[in-house]
Amino acid sequence: MSSSPPYAETESAVSRSSDRLYRCDAIVLARMDFGEADRILTLYSRQHGKLRVIAKGARRPLSRLGPHLEYFSHSRLMLARGRDLDVVTGAETVEAHLAIRDDLDAFGNASHMVEILARLTEDRQENAAVFDLLASSLHLLADGVDAFHVTRHYELALLTLLGYRPQLLHCIECRVALSQAPHPFSPAQGGFLCESCHGRAPATRLVGVDAQKYLRALDRGGLSATVRISIDSPLRDELEGIFGAYLRHIAERDLGSLRVLRELHDASSYNVR
Ligand SMILES: [Zn+2]
Repeated sequence: MSSSPPYAETESAVSRSSDRLYRCDAIVLARMDFGEADRILTLYSRQHGKLRVIAKGARRPLSRLGPHLEYFSHSRLMLARGRDLDVVTGAETVEAHLAIRDDLDAFGNASHMVEILARLTEDRQENAAVFDLLASSLHLLADGVDAFHVTRHYELALLTLLGYRPQLLHCIECRVALSQAPHPFSPAQGGFLCESCHGRAPATRLVGVDAQKYLRALDRGGLSATVRISIDSPLRDELEGIFGAYLRHIAERDLGSLRVLRELHDASSYNVR
């Protein structure tokens, strides 16, 4: 660079601050009050995956940041790298999804969506498709699309994007094509079992033909294939139960493996010393 010393000094100051600052698109998954007026937020960002950050003064009535950091709202943030937590220095709302807060059913389903995302992902593992799925699903809820169908679509798409797509067409044990009959779903194996393999897997539940059909339609055709299907409440409960059991199994197994990893890490760092 051929600039004279004063400019060079300005340039280096600028590049130092831009190293510390970064922008991202994010949705608030969880938040907790911290100190007198701050908030600690768990975000899912398009550019950096899940992040824990602090928004200083966000609980003050006239905070510039507070209104842009509500649950479910899609915001564009400026963050500064901090020692422990990165700090929100600027925020603007892209989509507030306000209608979700006025609809109990949409609110409950949106809360479930952000909760499972927080449980199934690790910090700073970027996955833009997961962010886009959450943003579009919240958008559909805010638009008043049937929350049951939107949420089942979100669950199956999220499981698929995170590498847990269930096997819906073939027996998870012997790979034979499944017949049109009730089959047990094994959360531990992530799929259905045929008549011959039934009983080989622990803790399985028998799933009816209609629920299996719904899952296959969702898997093949997405939300547009299921959104007009009218389903009664026993079938709703059955489908919620399958997803619930499978999501719980994955979350608990992952929590277990994280604990083992941490213990191994602690043991190895202990040995080094
Ligand atoms: Zn089988």
